[in-house]
Amino acid sequence: MGKKVLVTGGLGYIGSHTVVELYKHGYEPFIIDNLSNSDVSVLDRLEKICGKRPQFQQVEMCDLEQLREVFWSNNDIVGVIHFAAILLVGESVEQPLRYYNNNIVSTTNLLQCMHEFEVKPIVFSSSCTVYGNPDELPVTENAPVKPAESPYGNTKKICEDILKDASKAIDIQSISLRYFNPIGAHESSLIGEFQQGIPHHLVPFITETALGKRKELKIFGKDWNTKDGTCLRDYIHVVDLAEAHINALDRAISRKADDKYEVFNIGSGSGYTVLEMVQSFMKITGETVNYTFAERRSGDVEAVYADTTKANKVLGWDTKKTLEDMLKSAWDWEQALAKEA
Ligand code: UDP
Repeated sequence: MGKKVLVTGGLGYIGSHTVVELYKHGYEPFIIDNLSNSDVSVLDRLEKICGKRPQFQQVEMCDLEQLREVFWSNNDIVGVIHFAAILLVGESVEQPLRYYNNNIVSTTNLLQCMHEFEVKPIVFSSSCTVYGNPDELPVTENAPVKPAESPYGNTKKICEDILKDASKAIDIQSISLRYFNPIGAHESSLIGEFQQGIPHHLVPFITETALGKRKELKIFGKDWNTKDGTCLRDYIHVVDLAEAHINALDRAISRKADDKYEVFNIGSGSGYTVLEMVQSFMKITGETVNYTFAERRSGDVEAVYADTTKANKVLGWDTKKTLEDMLKSAWDWEQALAKEA
């Protein structure tokens, strides 16, 4: 038996890619997920990729008793990676109570169980949204945390604070990974971002437009203070991002850190504008993406990309994939999904 790692939200986009990496590194992932935004068929897909079927239990993390039962029946858990969250920015504005309740109670319940069952290492899925519109670029972990633009963003900030405070009071070793913009899919095209309805993120919108599922991409704003007037982001291949969780988990388990709570930026360190992304996609795939310019989207930040020096040095992690790998794998995944449908 490998070392058992509890992966909350492990059937989701980043969670499922991390499960693959956990197996590669000798861990035994145990997935809990409430299936609110994921499909149980991801288990079959993971089995195809990994040659093993991850242990899975459908669990409502907001129900403390259900979660306790998981820890009670699995006394060999060596660490936790916490992805489970609801994550639609617009929806969170309309349903703030649901977002605060779900994302925060699940986290406090998890920490409560870790405390009771003496499981110490936890890696938390945070976001660069905590930086808001940063004053300096590239943004380092020392940049101030800004007021969140949405209840969703605020739940990430609050959960970071909860981890930080809990680390002072109970014996846990916690690491928050602040993700920049994850895109792309596993090389097998068996797992990727499942998108229900109209995509909210740029790259799925590009691939669906290229496929003809959407008439055109609307580029939100052309008068931002960037090289071509469109917003700039740091896109990271989801497989590179998944690998960062292994480095963070190893570190939390080995308790090498000076602090019981640490934060790392996980991005590529490069910024691309929306227009550059569209043009690169067309060049790499040879497909056409119709686009028009539209009003700025409310809550958007102008430009953000990561300084990843800390993750490179301290976690010993770096990206391996190129922008071409990201866009090509996103396109392969979109086509694989279309074939299945
Ligand atoms: N974007 C866009 N059209 C879309 C979706 C996104 O122009 O249909 C832009 C968006 O305004 C932002 C960038 O693409 O500048 C990345 O957006 P995404 O939602 O993927 O990530 P986030 O805004 O959370 O960084």
